[in-house]
Amino acid sequence: MRKVAWRKTSFPVNMKLPKKTKRYCPFCKKRTDQKVDVVSTGSKRGTLKRGALGRAKLRGANRGMGNQGKYSRKAIKSWKRKTKTTTRKVIIYKCTECSKSKHTKNSRRVSKLMIE
Ligand SMILES: [Zn+2]
Repeated sequence: MRKVAWRKTSFPVNMKLPKKTKRYCPFCKKRTDQKVDVVSTGSKRGTLKRGALGRAKLRGANRGMGNQGKYSRKAIKSWKRKTKTTTRKVIIYKCTECSKSKHTKNSRRVSKLMIE
């Protein structure tokens, strides 16, 4: 079987993927039906750590009127310009027979990834 690498292009792409595919499962050692999913990045926190956030709240930050310093400003994401329009996506395949999953070897920059 020939290994097919993701074609590299310089422009952002919209990608469509099927919900289910038939693929080789290294755990079952045969071709099985597999569910296609995107690896999620998880939620992002601010610059403050969990304990620092609690201490800031105890100090009374972000409360009442007047200038609260850095707490008066909006989140950096809302006023700094975003440079990249695409994100790097890693696709994960989950076997329906043994319910084990496997990542793809290489990730891909896409502007939009649709799984249908
Ligand atoms: Zn399997």
